Amino acid sequence: MLHIGTAGVPLSTESRDTLAGIAQVRKLGLDAMELEFVRQVYVKHDKDALEICEHAKREKVALSIHAPYFINLNSPDKQTLEESRRRIISCAHVGHIAGARNVVIHSAFYMKMDKEEAYRRIKGQYALLRKELIDKGYDSIILRPELMGKPSQFGDVDALVRLCSEVEGVLPCIDFAHYVALHNGEKNGYDAFCEVMDKVEMLGKEALKDMHIHFSGIEYGDKGERSHLVLDEKPHNNKPIIQWRDMVKAWKDYKIGGIAISESPNIEGDAIKVKKYYDSL
Ligand SMILES: [Zn+2]
Repeated sequence: MLHIGTAGVPLSTESRDTLAGIAQVRKLGLDAMELEFVRQVYVKHDKDALEICEHAKREKVALSIHAPYFINLNSPDKQTLEESRRRIISCAHVGHIAGARNVVIHSAFYMKMDKEEAYRRIKGQYALLRKELIDKGYDSIILRPELMGKPSQFGDVDALVRLCSEVEGVLPCIDFAHYVALHNGEKNGYDAFCEVMDKVEMLGKEALKDMHIHFSGIEYGDKGERSHLVLDEKPHNNKPIIQWRDMVKAWKDYKIGGIAISESPNIEGDAIKVKKYYDSL
């Protein structure tokens, strides 16, 4: 089963509150919401996480977590590495209690480092994280390094699939808009999206049944991602828009399951649009 929903509390929600957001997601006919801890892990108390868990179960809304942006698992600075891991572990702590199994992570910047060297360092950090999750009893949490939209960032499909095959408890977050942007529009459309699915399938058939996806429109150029757009909004520089119907067709044809999150500026509008099209196929 594929759950489709919003990155954060829907815009149409009366209060900016997480519990109200979950109820609104259900009201809109959606069934997933990502908790956006991108600036900070705003759920501070275990009792709040537990309340979110119970509420989401009642509303049958699947939850996931987006970890803070201030993470760089390839930093040369030891303290930054430690703080990055600490932020991810605190997301895992909330996720463990709130029933949000997937923690999405912007892993790292290449810092102009040799790619193989960066890979080795980043993999080392994920292995440390995995060990810490097991020690804390959070081993059901899946770390989800995100497919990133700029060549300066770690996380093209190949690097992610390699990482996920080498470290237990790590699976990719496939951001289709980033995929289009990273390849400057050369990967866009049904075949290009199937290529991604084939690579995810290299992690085992079950990886297709347990996908985590981000989608939106996107503006991009030579250096990759510039900004997220509404799905059908044409980029200002006249680059082709993301072929999102092909993306949804590929999901359907590969019979995927998991969670797909709209990161469009019109979060719920585009989530509903994608869900309607998905259900119509
Ligand atoms: Zn992200």
